[in-house]
Amino acid sequence: MNLNDYIMAHEVPIRLGCFLGIFAVMAVWEMLSPRRGLRTSKAVRWASNLGLVLFNSLVLRLVFPAAAVGMAVFAGEQGWGLFHYIDAPFAAAVAVSVLVMDFAIWLQHVMVHAVPVLWRLHRVHHADLDFDVTTGARFHTLEILLSMLIKFAVILLLGPPLVAVVVFEVVLNATAMFNHSNVRLPETLDRFLRLIVVTPDMHRVHHSVEDDETNSNFGFNLPWWDRLFGTYRAQPRAGHEAMTIGIRTFRTDKWCSWLPGMLAIPFVGKVQDYAINRRQWSDSHE
Ligand SMILES: [Zn+2]
Ligand SMILES: [Zn+2]
Repeated sequence: MNLNDYIMAHEVPIRLGCFLGIFAVMAVWEMLSPRRGLRTSKAVRWASNLGLVLFNSLVLRLVFPAAAVGMAVFAGEQGWGLFHYIDAPFAAAVAVSVLVMDFAIWLQHVMVHAVPVLWRLHRVHHADLDFDVTTGARFHTLEILLSMLIKFAVILLLGPPLVAVVVFEVVLNATAMFNHSNVRLPETLDRFLRLIVVTPDMHRVHHSVEDDETNSNFGFNLPWWDRLFGTYRAQPRAGHEAMTIGIRTFRTDKWCSWLPGMLAIPFVGKVQDYAINRRQWSDSHE
């Protein structure tokens, strides 16, 4: 069995095994060394956040059964994408593919903050009143589907090796759980890690209620794009313990911690209110 066949046959157990393993490590780490006290019921949030993850996985399997790996195989069969035109060494093709896919995810993240109708979907991720390992996988189903379509487009243009797609998905999933987790890292370790990966302290800034802090640190995986494009912010003004997490206009458990409210968030409020100026949008949802 060659590498591609092995990946195709074992993609789901590889990804599920990595997810469960890293989730367990981060969940225990959060209990042993938490960065902040949680503001809301952990049982309710975890049930909702993990319930949403399960629901999204089922919907994704139904809508796109072949997923990103299937699209990479399809691009290969058709000879579509950059790496089917140039004869790059395998390791270089994998490295460049992972880098380009990470940049695409970063750009997508900037876009869902900038475009009002897409921000409606993305605010489900930001409405979490606490910030822990389950926040990292909490996205509205429609945003998950949009992400997959964007990933398909990147794969069709890039023609990445199959292994690059799986590596990228596993690494992105792992780093998202790591950098959303409520763990305390020694300051010097955090400063060193930030050079190569987005750390929890770095991404927590992005979950602040303050607009200028939310509009920084868009990276989920590699920290370089934010530094390169001027959206890097080292720390929150109020400090990590005192800063307020979430969105100003959604502050109740009904919207932020219970699954039905979370799923309804994109459809609340008038679109033009956001289009004019998010800062002045003071209408809060009880
Ligand atoms: Zn965001
Ligand atoms: Zn986040």
